[in-house]
Amino acid sequence: MTVNLLDTPIEFLKGVGPKKAELFKKEFEIFNYQDLLEYYPYRHIDKSKIYQLSEIQSEGAYLQFKGRITSYEILGEKFSKRLVAQFQDETGKIELVWFNSLRWVEELIKEKKSLIVFGKPTLFNRKWQITHPELLDTQSQADSCVSLAFQPLYNTSEKAKKGGLDSRAISKLMITLLTQIKDIIPEHLSQSYIEKLKLLRLKEALEHIHYPKDNEMLSRAKLRIKFDELFFTQLKLLKIKQINATKSIGFPFKVVGESFNTYYKNFLPFELTNAQKRVIKEIRADVGSGRQMNRLLQGDVGSGKTITALLVMLIAKDNGFQSCLMAPTEILATQHFESIKKLLKDMPVKVGYLSGSTKTADRRVLFENLQNGSIDILIGTHALIEDQVKFQNLGLVVIDEQHRFGVEQRAKLWTKNETSPHILVMTATPIPRTLAMTVYGDLDISVINELPKGRKPIITKLMYDRDRLSLFGFMKKQIEEGRQIFVVYPLIQESEKMDLFDLMAGYDLMTYHFPLPQYAVGIVHGKMKTDEKDFGMQQFIQKKTQILLSTTVIEVGIDVPNASVMVIENAERFGLSQLHQLRGRVGRGADQSYCILMAGDKLSHESKQRLNAMVSTNDGFEIANIDLRLRGPGDIQGTRQSGVLDFKLADLIHDEKLVGFTRKLAKELLENDPNFQNPENKPIFDHLKNIMSKNSIWGKIS
Ligand code: ADP
Ligand code: MG
Repeated sequence: MTVNLLDTPIEFLKGVGPKKAELFKKEFEIFNYQDLLEYYPYRHIDKSKIYQLSEIQSEGAYLQFKGRITSYEILGEKFSKRLVAQFQDETGKIELVWFNSLRWVEELIKEKKSLIVFGKPTLFNRKWQITHPELLDTQSQADSCVSLAFQPLYNTSEKAKKGGLDSRAISKLMITLLTQIKDIIPEHLSQSYIEKLKLLRLKEALEHIHYPKDNEMLSRAKLRIKFDELFFTQLKLLKIKQINATKSIGFPFKVVGESFNTYYKNFLPFELTNAQKRVIKEIRADVGSGRQMNRLLQGDVGSGKTITALLVMLIAKDNGFQSCLMAPTEILATQHFESIKKLLKDMPVKVGYLSGSTKTADRRVLFENLQNGSIDILIGTHALIEDQVKFQNLGLVVIDEQHRFGVEQRAKLWTKNETSPHILVMTATPIPRTLAMTVYGDLDISVINELPKGRKPIITKLMYDRDRLSLFGFMKKQIEEGRQIFVVYPLIQESEKMDLFDLMAGYDLMTYHFPLPQYAVGIVHGKMKTDEKDFGMQQFIQKKTQILLSTTVIEVGIDVPNASVMVIENAERFGLSQLHQLRGRVGRGADQSYCILMAGDKLSHESKQRLNAMVSTNDGFEIANIDLRLRGPGDIQGTRQSGVLDFKLADLIHDEKLVGFTRKLAKELLENDPNFQNPENKPIFDHLKNIMSKNSIWGKIS
């Protein structure tokens, strides 16, 4: 079969051999013909056009000229020995210079009257010259099976270059490969797609992505390859969703009853925002459908995801099911526990807590109550997914702050029951639409796109070390008005000691500037024991400390409405989305809140751009978009491990439209031919099966 030939190990390609094969594997992860074929050039040099010497305008471009050598001479001694030739066409003159292969060049230019010269003109002593130009043999073009109008440039490495794999060598091997296989490259799309969408066939695209005939073919080749990358990713994700939907029968939450209604009417501490109401409706429809829910709840920090989840947990209770809420850190889990207990204080709903530090005796009681059904809601950390935790009737799992949980962990929860519980994943990481579509393409998405009423937008300021005294003045005033202040220091794992040192130095500085006994400074950092950390947090929550110095342990979800100032030290060392999360810790009460970004006096251009973005907007989605533009999708929290972003050509920012378009197409295809029974779709199905069998994570989930 044809597919087998593409799986041929790379060492079998003529001109490769064992040494270069080793380099291909180690340096480029190219193991077989297919891998090499998909090693796309990053750029092409346009050799399709012959320029006139008078057209040279600036340095930097590779250009091609046709003309003749009028004279040449060999200058210098030993290392500075060089051949300098005068070259001209009808419009002008240029100098050509070679420092090696002098004899070979001399012979060539002696015998040829007219030459094609290719290279990068530079200005030297105010004269144009080209060092080491390529002398083109017009004959080679006629012999080749591919077009040589554009020369592909491939990424390579120092090591590979030393071993004989520079860009030019790779491009030669590519010609060998293309000549051998181009007619047997299988097609993944059906005929009707190719015709309807006016796409190139895959084999044409693969030829022209390397050796395009002209610019138009190059862009069509790129389009076809991007199309495949995005289309099959979407198809894969939607297929997983489809399998989940048909295979995983969910618990139908048929009624909205006593618990929900009583709470909603009598005890809800505030009016829900319209966005919260809409999201609850979306979730109700989903959990009532008889299918298992797999939903992502996105909402900016402070948008009120907790109460929304709580109301859904009450619906679970109304239908005779238990729920659990899992948080990524112990601090956050205890806070959820405390605040949910408070919210439910007038309700006959029993809430339990479990973490790694829960004592054995307490565990025993807890496990018993879980199994006999007397606990309605269990809140905790990762400990919830340990094997010995067994529920009587777990119907709903809520996961807060998704980015700390991988796809694998999500999958583990589903195996807790015979029938999978409904899953609601909550995240404050504002993921742009195109990215969400892809990273969370197997989930349904609900968005709370509105903050509770009465919140004043947080004022963000960028300050430098030299402004420190005025910062202290400002902090003093805020404290005198009864407010509290967070001060956060970056934590970088490789140098935890140094970071701690920064934090301690900060502590000394603070206590020096705030020496009065009524203003206390507290500390929380990752090296502390859990109960010490909790103590530090509780002191702050109970207003016994006015300033809390911490590392990023407070990053996620902490709710202290009286805190109105967030000072971020070395702000340039944080990522944008992290800064946004930190800022979200304030602005939760009715007071005007502030976020102060402290930066070193010397800032790189990129850092400045990032910090200015923070100053200019409070909108998490806008910030996520800027982050995506500045850093690329791979760096956005939690997306790297998702394993669905390794496109070779497609780009979620620039190809946003294509992402949406391919998703729509994939959806239509699955709706019209859910089991791929139409023979015309067979190539698509075969390719999809192939892709899905290669990825273990997906296999596990479906
Ligand atoms: P997040 O979405 O970041 O998890 P929380 O659920 O912690 O946000 O809510 C932030 C704060 O806003 C909490 O103090 C919460 O009680 C409050 N809150 C939530 N919804 C509303 C609302 N509709 N009106 C007023 N306050 C609200
Ligand atoms: Mg939260």
